[in-house]
Amino acid sequence: MPGHRILKRYLQADAISDIPRNMFSWKKVVETYSELETELPLLLARIDPSQPKSRDDLRKEYACTTAPERYYRDAMTVGLGSMFLAILQQYDLESKDQKAIEKLAQFYSKRSARKFQDFSVAAKKLPELILTINTQLQITQDVLSRSKPRGTESDGHKVVDAGPFRVVNTGNFSVEVMTIAGKVAQEAARRLSSKGLGKVCYGDILVSNRLNRKKEILAFYLPGKDEMFIRADLKGHEHDALDTLVHELGHRLYAKFLGGHQRSLVHTMYRRIQDGHNGSKREAIQDLLNDPSTKPKAGDVLVDPKKNVELMVTNLSFDYKGEGKVHLTFKDDPKSVGQTSISLEGWYQHKGIKLDLAKVGGFVSHYASTDPEENFAEMVSAYCMGKLHPSQVEMLEEIIK
Ligand SMILES: [Zn+2]
Repeated sequence: MPGHRILKRYLQADAISDIPRNMFSWKKVVETYSELETELPLLLARIDPSQPKSRDDLRKEYACTTAPERYYRDAMTVGLGSMFLAILQQYDLESKDQKAIEKLAQFYSKRSARKFQDFSVAAKKLPELILTINTQLQITQDVLSRSKPRGTESDGHKVVDAGPFRVVNTGNFSVEVMTIAGKVAQEAARRLSSKGLGKVCYGDILVSNRLNRKKEILAFYLPGKDEMFIRADLKGHEHDALDTLVHELGHRLYAKFLGGHQRSLVHTMYRRIQDGHNGSKREAIQDLLNDPSTKPKAGDVLVDPKKNVELMVTNLSFDYKGEGKVHLTFKDDPKSVGQTSISLEGWYQHKGIKLDLAKVGGFVSHYASTDPEENFAEMVSAYCMGKLHPSQVEMLEEIIK
């Protein structure tokens, strides 16, 4: 099952902006810097070259000097890096407002800001910085207060009913886009319900374009907010989107419905599959070794495809876990004995011989091997699609039934 398209948790944080929250935090940040400005006249009045400066004054001078770079960092922390883009996407803006927000988006997409050269420069330039950021805040507040977010009116294609889900248009998408998203959501609900997992099918699925950080991401779930997203341009990818949406609903199942004991079983299951995976790999390799025509033997040649050099087998060894290693030497340098080696698995890969892992049952996908929860979500998805190995169906049902 394809899995690489699924967004990692840490990327989720800034993929979607919570605009009111960003604005609230930004206001707090701007207030902090405005307070700094009120300190400035006092600081300047105290400067007497004949007197040593107090620690407190030095600290304040430092704060003034580093203000631009610290402000920029704080702005990124409260989400301004993506907030203006989110405003452009989520709000219907008058053209002059749109220009103003675009300018701000640009301002907050530069790499960083530098600190002032020294305190004397800071004393002159700090008020300018404070004015700029206060103005930016004011402009943004004004624009938001006179503009309307898109997709909040309940006319026909703003919201599509998809069985237990409401599929919500957050970006002025076409009827066609919304219809496809609705069908995918409805089919996901049907599949989950047929396996007794209908309880995870509720609430809104937000159709968004903001998932485009990585092209392959078709849907994702924010566990903290219990929010589900699906991409707008699913046309031609409906089937993968279905897999992914069910996978993400598997995360909801884990986050909202599994108790502590069940979660510990998810971890145990992961370890069991991991052991089985390694075991089946060893077994598959053992089978291959029984075939003398493919077993690596002294004198066999392997071409390193990257460096295009020829390597020759000297011998084969096994470690205490039973993992095999093929020792190699550079063909045109006999003195290089013992300098290089490759795992048996790698050897067979280079030779284009596939390991037969189906026997014992390994991870349902490469992505499933990431961690216990991803494995669980991948298994839920495969289970609902009728593609899960019977031995794993048993393990999974033990947890979810
Ligand atoms: Zn996942």
